[in-house]
Amino acid sequence: MKCGFVSIVGRPNVGKSTLLNSILGLKLAITSNVSGTTRDIIQGIYTDSDSQIIFVDTPGVHKPMHKLDTIMNRRSYDNTEGVDVILFLIDATSPFGKGDEFILNRVKDSNIPIFLIINKIDKVKDKTLILNQINSLKDKYNFSEIIPISSLKNKLYDLISTLKKYLPEGESIYSDEDLTNVSTRFIVSEFVREKILELTHDEIPHTVYCVTNDYKESKDKIYVSVDIIIDRENLRKIIIGKHGSMLKEIGTRSRIDIEKFLNKKVFLETHVKVVKDWRDNASILSEFGFNDDE
Ligand code: GDP
Ligand code: MG
Repeated sequence: MKCGFVSIVGRPNVGKSTLLNSILGLKLAITSNVSGTTRDIIQGIYTDSDSQIIFVDTPGVHKPMHKLDTIMNRRSYDNTEGVDVILFLIDATSPFGKGDEFILNRVKDSNIPIFLIINKIDKVKDKTLILNQINSLKDKYNFSEIIPISSLKNKLYDLISTLKKYLPEGESIYSDEDLTNVSTRFIVSEFVREKILELTHDEIPHTVYCVTNDYKESKDKIYVSVDIIIDRENLRKIIIGKHGSMLKEIGTRSRIDIEKFLNKKVFLETHVKVVKDWRDNASILSEFGFNDDE
């Protein structure tokens, strides 16, 4: 079994989210315009019969920021010096620019194998242009692989099988049960958190934490209850809004995304709770069903 960590980097709009979604076949990558919203490192997990590839956010972020991250990630990053492969994405339809250079400089000293992924090749009619691009870039860095793709149009089996060559042998880290139980609840709560940050802009700090406290599935619908946890009373009225309008909007937008993700009708309930110092307080974590030994 090949099992390892992969990170996707590249300037905005090169197609990072599209690539991830296309590999995972689901809207798993939770994106937002507000920077720093991917509080948890894991973006998605690809599993097949002989591999498990865990896509993580930024290389260089090895230490979990908070206790909760450790619990969510299950595996400690302390003895993982970093990811196994970095996918460095560029856009085939535009010349290699300052933004690309900046990203490459940030990752190239890491000693981690870097694949140069030339994306959006479906938009390039004259394929010799792609060959020219490969030729002009191959000396920029000793890329482990250079792979032209269309993350929108192509099946990415080749990329997956090339990736596997660079991943270590090992037992899979997440079981099927982890993926369905932990991730679905987690992803659902992330949708809500994403909408809060989207709608309240800078008024709500990134310390807001959402947790799914109830999840029941019946034949034709799913009932979900999400707690929105903040650490200060004055944030409550921002989240609730005038006559509850903000919370209603957060709920509606979240439900639409959750329904798309789960492909089922969803009944979503949200509760705003103020918990002082929830980050440091072990008893609060266990109150929400987390357990250190988990
Ligand atoms: P990110 O900012 O790097 O995450 O970029 P996104 O994944 O959000 O993609 C930016 C835009 O490029 C979106 O409109 C995508 O639909 C489009 N896009 C991404 N990959 C491809 C591709 O392979 N071909 C084409 N034609 N469009 C793509
Ligand atoms: Mg994106």
